[in-house]
Parts: sequence; C-alpha cells; structure tokens
Amino acid sequence: MYGPTTELNDSTLGALGIHRLEIPVPFIEAGGPANVYVIEDADGRYSLFDTGIGTAEGIAALRGGAAEKKLDLRKLSRIVVSHGHLDHFGNAQMLSEESGARVFIHEADVDKVVGDGRFAALLRKHRGFFLKRLGVPVDQLDQMQAGADRQPNLVRYLEPSRLGPLHEGDVLQFKHFEATVKHLPGHTPGLVCLHAERQRLFFADDHVLARVSPNPVLDLSQGEGPTKFRALSRYLEGAKWVRDLELEAVLPGHGPAFKGHRELLDGLFAFYELRQDKLLARLAESPASIYELVTSLFPRRDVGRMVLMLSEVLANVEVMEDRGLVVALDAEIVRYAAR
Ligand SMILES: [Zn+2]
Ligand SMILES: [Zn+2]
Repeated sequence: MYGPTTELNDSTLGALGIHRLEIPVPFIEAGGPANVYVIEDADGRYSLFDTGIGTAEGIAALRGGAAEKKLDLRKLSRIVVSHGHLDHFGNAQMLSEESGARVFIHEADVDKVVGDGRFAALLRKHRGFFLKRLGVPVDQLDQMQAGADRQPNLVRYLEPSRLGPLHEGDVLQFKHFEATVKHLPGHTPGLVCLHAERQRLFFADDHVLARVSPNPVLDLSQGEGPTKFRALSRYLEGAKWVRDLELEAVLPGHGPAFKGHRELLDGLFAFYELRQDKLLARLAESPASIYELVTSLFPRRDVGRMVLMLSEVLANVEVMEDRGLVVALDAEIVRYAAR
C-alpha cells in the first residue's frame, strides 16, 4: 500500500558482505517471504540477522539459499534476532545447535522466543481484560480462545542457555562495516533494528516495511494495567526517529531493500491519523468500547481476524488517549468518550 521508489540491488549489498536469503512465510499478514541477512565477519565466519520460520519449507529455503550462495551456516559467530516473531526467530535454535553460536535478542522479547509468551496462554490469563477493558462478548472470546488453542506450533523455542543479551547502543562489527543496535519497541516490545550509520543503511526488520503497515499487535506480555505496552504510541515515537535519519536504503524484514523511507513513513502516519479521525467521529456520537468500535469500523469481521482488529482499534485509541482526545470511562465494560 505504500510503494517504495527504488530497489537496492542485492549485488550492491554483496560488496558489503551482506547476503539476503528469502524464506517463505505461511501467513499473508507477514507481507511476503522473510529475510535472513547473512553478514560476513572479519574472521571468515558469519553473523546472522534473523533466521526465518522453522517450517519444513522454511528450513529447505534457508539451506537451499545458503548453499546456492556458498554460505556455510555452520560457521556462525552469532545469531541476532530482531524480535520474537516466528518468521524471524524460528530457525535460531536449530542454527545455534549446528554452529554453536549464541542467539542475541533484546530482553523484552525473551518470553516470546522461549515459548512463555504464546498468545493462547496470554489470552487465557488476561481473559478479564478482554471482557472488561475491551468489551468482547463471552461467545466471541470463547471462539477466539478456541482458534488460538488450535494454532499449530510452527517453531522450536529456544533453550534459555543459548541466549545472549542485546542492548540499545551495542555496536556490532562486521567485515566491511559496523552497525549500532537500536531498540524500537512497537511492533513488539523488544524489537531492535541495526543502523549502519556510515553506509546509511538501516536493517529495519518489521519496523518499516514497504508493503504492509507493521501491525501494532495487542501485547500483554508486560501486563495489562498501568504497565501495559502501548504498541502504537511506542511505535510512532520510534518511527518518527527513523523518519529523520538520512538513509541510502532500508533493508526490511520482508522484501528487497528500498529507498524513500520518508515518503513511506509519512504515508503511514497519515494512514493512522485517518483511522483516528474515523474513530473520533464515531466516539463523538456516543461513548463506545473497543469491541463496539471494531464492529462499526469493520462491518465485515471474522473471528480469525478479531485479534488484529481489536489490536488496531485499541492501539489507535491509546494514541488518542495519550493525545488527550478521548477519555476512558471506567465501568463494567470500559467505554471511551471524545473530549
Ligand atoms: Zn515479520
Ligand atoms: Zn514481526
């Protein structure tokens, strides 16, 4: 929906020792195959930024892609995981076993990669939040829970002993360049990007994507009260920081490298403002719960997409709340009113 202007050639990246492997992802929300970046180290080994999903098809694409480019994935010095989603960390356990490399991830996403942050469990634990705070009817919630419980496990979770820390400001040295770790919570609480300042390259994983907006998915891994992670508010802070960078290209988590991140992000900011205008117009008529807003914003709904729809509405309402445009009315079901 937000078209990139130009693509950066994979062979240009090859000169910097950056090799991109494309790993198919079996769900369309991802925005196409996921990228694994194999980056040359000075000592002849490789660092990995992301690992692809661990389905049979994903593993075959990883091994086939590496063999074709003559990259030996047993010679890994470290595996850096951008964030705790299946299509990014799915092969980390396997690759760590095969190479002995440690897996570095930001602490705020550790629960996801070790298997503690599974959505079905979070949904069960925070059932009251969905009923009261969001106003989801009991029968809908039961269907959502059944759907989440049926999700196949497409991944091997990581043994905690294989994990290493990754912090904002860490500098990673590669053969041809260095990159700084940037913690940009939003898409997930622990998402990090890599910034190669001198080359003006930005490894954005799912923080900036050319084709889809980075869903601010409802994330209760940090609690549901005052500590609740406000996905879109945090995302927009980080995205504004990225917007102001001078960049030659963005190397995203899905799809080829692209230029024009400013136009892309400005389009995204406008998209969210339009959503918020619509929500505000609805709330000007009468106060509504998050679920009621979902029903008026998305006339065609199916329970399989309910989590994404609730996430999107809640995230936008939180931004409006932070901006003082709406206020929560605490009752048996929380409703929001325009100020
Ligand atoms: Zn992704
Ligand atoms: Zn993701």
